[in-house]
Amino acid sequence: MLNFKRKLTIMDNISFDLAEKDNPRKKMPWYHAFSFLFLWAALFFAVVFPLYNVLPISVNIDEEIFKPGQFVAERAQHLLLELDRLGPKIIGDVVNEKTMIDFLLREMDIVHRVMRHDLYDLEVDVQQVSGSYLHLEIVRMYQAVQNVVVKLSSKKSNSTSYLLVNSHYDTKPGSVGVGDAGSMVVTMLEVLRQLATSSDPFEHPIVFLFNGAEESSLQGAHGFITQHRWSPSCKAFINLDSVGSGGREILFRGGPNHRWLMSHYKAAAKHPFATTMAEEIFQTGVIKSNTDFKIFRDFGRLPGLDMVIQYNGYVYHTKYDRFEFITRESLQNTGDNVLSLVKSLSNSKEMQFTQLFVLRISYHRHSNDRPQWYRDESGCGNCLPVCFGHDNGTGFLGATHQCVPLSYYNNRGLDVHNLYILHDICFGDGFPLSP
Ligand SMILES: [Zn+2]
Repeated sequence: MLNFKRKLTIMDNISFDLAEKDNPRKKMPWYHAFSFLFLWAALFFAVVFPLYNVLPISVNIDEEIFKPGQFVAERAQHLLLELDRLGPKIIGDVVNEKTMIDFLLREMDIVHRVMRHDLYDLEVDVQQVSGSYLHLEIVRMYQAVQNVVVKLSSKKSNSTSYLLVNSHYDTKPGSVGVGDAGSMVVTMLEVLRQLATSSDPFEHPIVFLFNGAEESSLQGAHGFITQHRWSPSCKAFINLDSVGSGGREILFRGGPNHRWLMSHYKAAAKHPFATTMAEEIFQTGVIKSNTDFKIFRDFGRLPGLDMVIQYNGYVYHTKYDRFEFITRESLQNTGDNVLSLVKSLSNSKEMQFTQLFVLRISYHRHSNDRPQWYRDESGCGNCLPVCFGHDNGTGFLGATHQCVPLSYYNNRGLDVHNLYILHDICFGDGFPLSP
């Protein structure tokens, strides 16, 4: 009798094992999700959150001679104070359409004066443009919006592949917009100055787009990418914007399907910080707004990187978006990253023929409706860079640890197979690739 019972137990075990083999993707009980999420939340607060407050030491103007080629945060901060004193810059208002144009042209004059004329050419254009397009299921029409467009190119190079660097100076009514996106505008001005005075020329011309109509459904970007004479030559872009003020900027979107952009970010950015969470939220459709990234991607078919400041998000689009929130160290952080990234991309071989570097690798052999994952070889400073794209063509790059499981849980549910993949991501050698 005892032997018979033991036999049954053995048989039960065998049948259980067979069932496991028949169904290798057996789901874990639902309540494991809580401990799973808790693990990543704990990691986020223990590792990622403290890094928000780590900022570099700023470079002052009197130190510039000892630190050649470095982004000078003090100069950018002086310009930012000027932007603060100008008040709100509303599309159609004299401050936006006249005062800001004069301010930017004055800065171009200064750059032109200090520029290495033996190495570089500087062209400045004030674009006035009208057009229409469909955005969020509404037809957007605009007339005579303005952009200040600047092209810096090396005399020794005849490359026709331009790198586009974009941010906007217009603001929401009632907001001075020092964070959104004045801080990015002054960052671009200082980056332009450093490049123009550098003794190391770059290969590909750089177009700086000081965009005068972003808050009105991204019209300035549309006017540039569809109608400006330099637009067809732009092969990749960096978009700089803000949904907060101060702190570290974050790379939250890239591609689509251009892994080389993330590789350059990883290699070049001095203080890298990246996540996919914002992209995930955008894709759910919860947020009915977007950045110029969408316009360049959808109307210009350009790959690019989207970087935003998101600290102190409560001041975004309010009267509290003022100078006091942005420290010199914060400007140094963004400036260091943008300057080194622009240098890297403007010298990259991929810029010549960007379409040759489109990456489409599927993690799953048997499914077309799941995210495509691919690995990026190693960590990028503060975050684990995990590059992945979607079959619908919207790619996004870079992930902090905590975002990966959340996004994956959202897409596929929590099951054993997912855990294996997450284990590979976090503790293994990265992602297995399948052609
Ligand atoms: Zn903005």
